[in-house]
Parts: sequence; structure tokens; C-alpha cells
Amino acid sequence: MIVVFGSINLDLVARVATLPTPGATLHARGFATSPGGKGANQALAARRAGAEVALFGSTGRDDFAAAALTLIRASGIDVGGVHQHDASTGVALIHVDDAGENAITIVAGANAHATSASIPDEMLGASTTVLLQFETPASESLAVAKRAKARSARVVLNCAPARSLDPEWLSVIDVLIANAGEAAVIARPFTMSTDPAAFAETIASNYDIAAIVTLGAQGVVAATATARYALPALSVNATDTVGAGDAFSGVLAAALDRGDPLPVALVSATAAGALACTREGAQPALPFAADIANAARRLEDRLRVTPRR
Ligand code: ADP
Repeated sequence: MIVVFGSINLDLVARVATLPTPGATLHARGFATSPGGKGANQALAARRAGAEVALFGSTGRDDFAAAALTLIRASGIDVGGVHQHDASTGVALIHVDDAGENAITIVAGANAHATSASIPDEMLGASTTVLLQFETPASESLAVAKRAKARSARVVLNCAPARSLDPEWLSVIDVLIANAGEAAVIARPFTMSTDPAAFAETIASNYDIAAIVTLGAQGVVAATATARYALPALSVNATDTVGAGDAFSGVLAAALDRGDPLPVALVSATAAGALACTREGAQPALPFAADIANAARRLEDRLRVTPRR
């Protein structure tokens, strides 16, 4: 099963011609709310890909809480570990422009109260894949990762939003997922190359983990200690890239959790990332297992695998 420890937000999405600049007042072409938050998005992505998922996190006691959890509840995700606090439910203020680019302001609210202690030990065993991001307190995420590692669970970290990682973090995870910008932030203090492929190879060799760098419309590169991987993106008409990284992370975790080898998981996740770009919003755009499998068939021949030793 998959345990997601992460954020739960309500996304407020304005469609605009161009992204806002300082001092500008924009008139949006349209507005919608949709449930979001990286934790909730990735939980739903994994669930729609077929995994059994439990979500741990925190909402407020306000009207946004129920709205933020609508799709999560309807999908059959276990929300017994979602606790309520006297704070506002997390909110993301999102602008999406005509080119599908986005600019996002996050209000953490109740997400700041999410705690590792809410996850019982028995849910962190060898048959668990733990999926983490950084919209909940990093110290609590690290506590979850350490407990999971000690109990032989698989730990997948999506290093988003960008944050540097000390060696302690890199020693308790099995899989690191970062986009190019996030990879550069991780690389800087180590004076590693920020070239995505070189970065992935260095992290994989130094920490013996799988390191994955997503490259938007350019696809993905990844490395383990023994192989390097490169896969172009699936060509789609991208109308809204919000949630692409969450689709990728959730589906990758689901694939690994069901026992797929890394290359197979990379193909599914890359297909899912592209499909998420073809619909608006974060959670409503997340693809289902059958569509991911169809799209993955169009990609599987394009994966390049090179042995490293
Ligand atoms: P993030 O959303 O975290 O910045 P990316 O933009 O790298 O992450 O997207 C994650 C994955 O989603 C990419 O590796 C790619 O497979 C897919 N993806 C993202 N944007 C596109 C696009 N415009 N066309 C096709 N696939 C895309």
C-alpha cells in the first residue's frame, strides 16, 4: 500500500492571458476551484493508477476542508489519518496563462500542523511505499522517512517545492524525484553538476538510490548506481501543466508499489504526466489506469537504458 504524508489544499485557479507582473491588475478569462495540494494530488494520482492509498495530513475546520477532500473521499482513499486543526485549510492561488504556464502562491494554513505521529507504525512496514513532498513541515517529513526506513518501507521523495537536501535526507530515501529547477537547488550546496543527467548519476552513485529528474515537455532522465535512463515526453496538446509533476510522482509510486521495475514505472509516470497536461486543474486532470496503460504503450519503445558498469 501507499502512505502519502503531505499537503491538502483547495486550488483557486484563474485563467489569464499572461502571468501577473508586479503592480499589474489582470482580468481573468475564467475561474474555478478544485481540490489540490501536492500530498492530496499525489495520493489521488496513485489511487487512480490502481494503488491502495492512505493519506495523512491536516485541514482546517472551515468550509474549504470538505471541498479540498471531495475527490479524495470519492476515490476510496483512506482519510482516517487526516486531522483537523484551528487554522485555515491550505490554499493555492494559481494563475494559468494561454501557453499553459503557471504561477502559484501557496498558503500553508493547516498543512503546517501535519505530524509524523499521526501515522501508526504498523502502516510503515516492508509492504508500504511512503510518498513525501515539502508542502508539510520538512522536519515531520524527515521523521516519517526515518521511521519508514527503519521499518523497511520504500521511501519516495518528490523534492517539491524546491529545497536543499542534506545527506541525512539522501540516506533515508530510495527514490528521489525532482524537476530541473529542484535538482539545481539540491545540487548547489554539494557543488554537483546541475545538468539533469549528470545530477541524477551523481546522486544515484553517491547515495545508492534511484534519482529522477523530470524535464517537462522534454520528458525525464534518471539513474541508479547501475544504469541511466532517458525518455522523451509523450507528445500532447498541453493546455494546463498544473499537476504534471504530481501525476508523475503518484503514478511512479503506484507502479513501484505493485512491483514494476524502475524502467516500467518511469514509462507509466511519464505517460501520466503528459495526460495530466491535457486537462485543466490538478486533481480533476489526473489520469486513470486504463488511459495511463494506453499512453504508456506509445512510449515504451522510446526508453533509452544505458548500463553504467
Ligand atoms: P513539475 O510539474 O513538477 O514541474 P514537470 O513539468 O517536469 O514537473 O512534469 C512532470 C512530467 O510530466 C514530465 O517529466 C513529463 O513526462 C510530463 N510533462 C510535463 N509537461 C509536459 C508537456 N508539456 N508535454 C508532455 N508531457 C509533459
